[in-house]
Amino acid sequence: MQEGRVTRIESKDIYVISNDGSEIRCVLPGKIKNKYSLKKNKLNTLDIVAVGDFVKYSLKTSGNETVGIIEEIAERNNYVSRKAPKIRGRGEKGKRLEQIVAANVDKLIIVTSIANPPFNNRFVDRMLVIAESSEIEPLIIINKIDLDENNTSNKWKSLYESIGYKILEISVKEKLNVDLLQSKIQEGKFVFWGQSGVGKSSLLNHLFPGLNLKTGEISDYSKKGKHTTVTAKLIQINSKVSVIDTPGIREIEPYGISKNDLGHYFIEFLPFISDCKFNTCTHFHEPGCAVRTAVEQKKIHKERYQSYLNLLQSIEE
Ligand code: GDP
Ligand code: ZN
Repeated sequence: MQEGRVTRIESKDIYVISNDGSEIRCVLPGKIKNKYSLKKNKLNTLDIVAVGDFVKYSLKTSGNETVGIIEEIAERNNYVSRKAPKIRGRGEKGKRLEQIVAANVDKLIIVTSIANPPFNNRFVDRMLVIAESSEIEPLIIINKIDLDENNTSNKWKSLYESIGYKILEISVKEKLNVDLLQSKIQEGKFVFWGQSGVGKSSLLNHLFPGLNLKTGEISDYSKKGKHTTVTAKLIQINSKVSVIDTPGIREIEPYGISKNDLGHYFIEFLPFISDCKFNTCTHFHEPGCAVRTAVEQKKIHKERYQSYLNLLQSIEE
């Protein structure tokens, strides 16, 4: 049996990179589909296999092509998922299903820019919730600091650092701090995420020469709308480093987080949550809410609280 890791999925074709570095097209046989069957196991996920999964497969040659037959999917250490776009998946009770975007990752690299497009802290906070809920360490990158004439990025840097997050200001264009970032990603399984135009492709090309990702394209996000198909792609840089790029997925709605849990993923709320009067407090309108008091006393930043409220509102229950 061969072993490898899923690099991309195109309809029924699952591409797997083997330990020797070659890529092979694999298929899922019926018995595996049955084993992981949605209905049988009452799973809420759309995906039997996901980008980043470690798989075992056997080889089958038909004609002049050798294909892999997936025999086993290893249990995931963790994964990043989102609510499946409405058009694809509605579960039996009309709830949106979970879609796994990337499996088995060590670090979530959230790429933003300070200008053109402007820094979007709501996006960062959504991604941080994803990171916390999937137990993946986040790293925030603010790119294009060459455009930051008024040094506004410093304000955001202090905010996120005060919570305990790592944040790095860089400029791919001026090669500022890119070496520092490089030194932090010498080993690991990374997923890169950023909204359109922030310079994610430029950054990846710079960090990993030879990738040749297309840059400077007009926002595919606005062109195709919100519900584009998942096109995460894993690139095995070398034996120690793999990168999952998410070009088709600019936006993400966290999956499976209840209104009651959400506060736990805003980690600076944690010391206050236990002091709320009601243990079911959603820190919105309830009396005796210690989180709201902390916001009023500026112990929690109002921008983070606003992100929290936005997310709270988006949770359908
Ligand atoms: P992506 O959509 O996030 O993959 O962004 P791209 O890598 O395609 O970059 C979008 C645009 O931003 C391109 O025109 C890049 O040349 C530009 N860009 C990337 N990094 C920087 C930077 O550090 N400073 C400036 N001023 N522009 C940058
Ligand atoms: Zn509360």
